[in-house]
This record gives sequence, structure tokens and C-alpha cells, in this order.
Amino acid sequence: MSDVRIEGLSKAFGDQRAVDAIDFEVASGELCVLLGPSGCGKSTTLRLVAGLEEPSDGRILVDGVDVAHKAPKDRRISMVFQSYALFPHLSIAKNIVFGLEVRGVAKAVRAERLARVAAMTGLAPYLDRKPSQLSGGQRQRVALARAIAGEQPICLMDEPLSNLDAKLRAEMRLEIRALQQRLGMTMLYVTHDQIEAMTMADRVVLMNEGRIEQQGAPAELYERPATTFAARFIGAPAMNLVPLETSAGPVLAGVRAEHVELVEVGAGRVAGRVKALEYHGADTVVAVDTEHGGDFAVRRPGRVRAAVGETVALAWNPTHEHRFDPTTGRRLGAIASSPSNSEPVRS
Ligand code: ATP
Repeated sequence: MSDVRIEGLSKAFGDQRAVDAIDFEVASGELCVLLGPSGCGKSTTLRLVAGLEEPSDGRILVDGVDVAHKAPKDRRISMVFQSYALFPHLSIAKNIVFGLEVRGVAKAVRAERLARVAAMTGLAPYLDRKPSQLSGGQRQRVALARAIAGEQPICLMDEPLSNLDAKLRAEMRLEIRALQQRLGMTMLYVTHDQIEAMTMADRVVLMNEGRIEQQGAPAELYERPATTFAARFIGAPAMNLVPLETSAGPVLAGVRAEHVELVEVGAGRVAGRVKALEYHGADTVVAVDTEHGGDFAVRRPGRVRAAVGETVALAWNPTHEHRFDPTTGRRLGAIASSPSNSEPVRS
């Protein structure tokens, strides 16, 4: 069991700071997801931890020892790449134990580990095949089996599910998470997919332009986003944000789609026209084009009886409202619950 601590880590490519003085920790046996949009620096962070990039500044501590300038092989880390990086000419069995062979692990030990990881990942029937004779999901499992066979205490994964179709991705999310928990692996997992982050992570590190926007348990990011960026990035549909005048000045009010109700049109309420209805079975997401707040998403259970073009009004309980500074985008203190705030929008 091992923990990872990142302190003031930076990486510049010329003038560009791809990773800009970030700090975070992955506790032993924890699955930490590095999440963020394309180009935010998450892969670079992972490559720095793996030792595939040299940091410009900062420390990478594994069990308290700085490995920032050690060779990848001396970091007690395995890595699963997006491309899986399998050898096409080698059998599945050879692919899985390749790293062990290179490290000079005895043949009997290799055979024992191969049998164990093959059983664990459901690959036992395919060991004699070549990678081209497997499906995408099976190849993904080979990459995972190879990482597990290495028995390194820390496993890094860079978008390992992005080549798979939606159904397989959902299955593999569960499999990877179950395996990581069963083996007590410390895992650092990169994705731009917030659903992957929310469903798999113990802890999410949300990045934006090389910096950490917010970190915490998935529910913390969802329920108390620290910034409008976090509010919009986590959750689908994204959090609705509307400008609001309060006694303390202008704010951006945020409200999640599931907390908005469609109500009778009335004074002081946000009104708008139904732009689209997306029926998902369990619920319906209604897109409403409002006069003041732009597009608004409303999620209601089951079917919604509304027609495209119809005028509707929106309401929500103020206890569900988030407040942000319109200039900095940062979360403002506790939500006021005085009756004067109970109407969603002033017009
Ligand atoms: P994606 O999800 O698209 O892979 P990412 O969040 O993983 O994005 P990085 O790959 O870490 O982002 O890239 C961060 C920034 O650093 C990007 O602007 C990228 O263009 C730049 N960058 C990454 N690698 C290099 C490199 N070797 N040389 C120059 N710039 C680089």
C-alpha cells in the first residue's frame, strides 16, 4: 500500500505552463480521478508522476520519498495507456508478463501471476490469441492485467476507456473500480468524462488551465461547487446560472436542473419558452429559453406535459440555490434563506 503526494508541481513547455504549481494527495488504496477539459494539463500531470516527463518544479512523493527525478522503473508505478500499448506480434499471455520478464522475475512466479490475473480479468480463454483477435474491451483488460501482474502499489491510467462504446465503458468502469478496491491499489486515473469521475472516484481533482479548480469527494463537487467552472463542468445537464440582483449587489445564482420546477406563469418568476424536450424514460430534460438567463435546463421525473414553443415559468426552493461572484466566479458564502430570496428572479 502506498500514497502519493504532489507538491507545487509545475511543467512548462516553452512559455506555456501546462501544469501550474498544483498540490494534491492520493491516499493509500484510493482512486483519485484527474478530471478536466481537453488541454487542462491532466495527462501531463500523469506523465510527470509516471516519470515520462521531467518536472519544471515541485515534488512527487511516493510514501514520503521524492521520486520526481527517479527513472520510471524505480517509482513502483504501473501505467495503462489510452492506446493500451500492446505488442501486436506477442500472444496475450506474453503481453501480460512482458514487463515481468524484462525485470527478470522467475519463470514460475510469472506463470503463477499470469494464471491469477487472467482469472481475475476473465482473460483465461484468450491467452494464446494475439491482440488483433480480441475485442476493444478485452484488449483493455489485457492492459489492465499487465498493470496488475506487475504488482506495483500504484497504478496510473490515462483515459483507458475512451476507445470503447458506451455500454462497454459502463461495464469497465465497474470492473476497474471493483478490482482496484479488491486489490487495494492506489490509483490515479485521468479522464475528461465527468460521469467516469463521479462514478469511480473516491476523490476528484478538477483541473482547468494547468491549475486545480477544486478537489474533493464527487458529492462535494456536485453539491458545493467552489467556482462556476466546477458548477458547469460537473453534472449533466450543466448547472443553470442566472444573474441576480440582491441587496448585497449582483450575484450569479446557480441551480441544478433537478431542483427547478415548471410552474404557472406569474409576476417575479423566470419565464421562458420551451425549446426542446428530451425524454429519457425515468425523467425528461426540458430546455427553456428564458428572457434573462439564457437557456435553462429543467429535469423532471417521468414524462413532462409541455409543448415546444409553450410559455412556462420556472421556480425553485432557495435552499437549492448556489451563489457565485459574477466577476471571479468563486462561490459566495452560505445561501441566504430570507423570504425576500424566495422568488427566483427579478425582472
Ligand atoms: P487531453 O484531454 O486533450 O489529452 P490534457 O488535459 O491531458 O488534454 P495535456 O495533454 O496535459 O492536456 O496538455 C496540456 C497542455 O500542454 C496543452 O495545451 C498541450 O498542448 C500542452 N502540451 C502537452 N504536451 C506538450 C509537449 N510535449 N510540448 C508542448 N506542449 C505540450
